[in-house]
Amino acid sequence: MVSAYADHSTYYFTIKRGDSLSQYFSKLGLSNQLLANLLSANKSNQRLNQLAIGHKLTIRLHNNRRFKSLTYQLNSRTNLNIALNDNRFSTLFNRQPKRIPSDSSTTWVNINHSFGVDAQKAGVGFNTINLIVKALSWQLNFNTDLKKGDQFIIISNGSEKPTAIIYQSIIKNKSIKVFAYQNKHGNTHYYNRLGHSLSSSFLEAPLKYKHISSKFQLRRYHPILETWHPHRAVDYAANYGTPVYSTANGVITKKGRKGALGKVVIIQHGFDYTTVYAHLSRYANNLYKGKKVKKAQIIGYVGSTGRSTGPHLHYELHYKGKRKNPLTHKPPAQKSIDSANLQDFKAKVDKILSSL
Ligand SMILES: [Zn+2]
Repeated sequence: MVSAYADHSTYYFTIKRGDSLSQYFSKLGLSNQLLANLLSANKSNQRLNQLAIGHKLTIRLHNNRRFKSLTYQLNSRTNLNIALNDNRFSTLFNRQPKRIPSDSSTTWVNINHSFGVDAQKAGVGFNTINLIVKALSWQLNFNTDLKKGDQFIIISNGSEKPTAIIYQSIIKNKSIKVFAYQNKHGNTHYYNRLGHSLSSSFLEAPLKYKHISSKFQLRRYHPILETWHPHRAVDYAANYGTPVYSTANGVITKKGRKGALGKVVIIQHGFDYTTVYAHLSRYANNLYKGKKVKKAQIIGYVGSTGRSTGPHLHYELHYKGKRKNPLTHKPPAQKSIDSANLQDFKAKVDKILSSL
């Protein structure tokens, strides 16, 4: 629960899950009354009611074990100092000097509620929050993956687009590091430290099919309904039980029945893409909402569930909420930084990582 080592009468703590200031106080033999007085002495002191996991807290005692002062790390650069002199508490905010060159700044976001809320609290602008969610969307599901105590480190050189984004999970050894690089056309994209693109490419088709039985078209005569309907999807005729693959890396957002589509799997790919696989006979084993899948991983098997005349896969590709023709819409190609610029990129990455 609480870990500390004592340096004479100075105690250093790193906040762990479930810790509270009253626990530290009782551990050091300090009274609840003292704690209540401290918290009520100044409105700012009430920020100690909610300690952030991973932040540092220092408590100093006089040699007679009476409270002298405490320092709490509010964020990467600001400390809250509270000292007790002549029975009066004084509160002081201390801004630390930046640890990296003056042309860049680092913002730490500690996850307490959600990335959006916590980043705003840390002073990150709305556009930058969106950019970060987008940049990491192929690696991280912001709705399901984040845990209290996770941390983001956002390194910026003043523009809205961070130069580096680091996600550090509270789970050991789980981190994602992405770095911005501007290509010769002036577009900035994010890459991993090796210069590889973060987005997944897409398979040409989600299965080995016999033929395309219905293309993407705005008007189609429906053989069961006997009416004209748009068909903004591709139907692939295939044998019953043919494996169906996820066309790109992604996260399962639905596995279940959905009206005329029968048994369906829906997958979110990064920020902008969703794919739909319908009329399945059954699902792949161990598939569930929130599960991450790889490009070409089997997610189900061809069937004829729902409103269907025979075994086929009905496949939809959605881009930014709109249905696109999967046969002609070209999702982003997976491009890495070209060799001519790779050394320059890696030098920038090393500089950023060594400044942390
Ligand atoms: Zn269809």
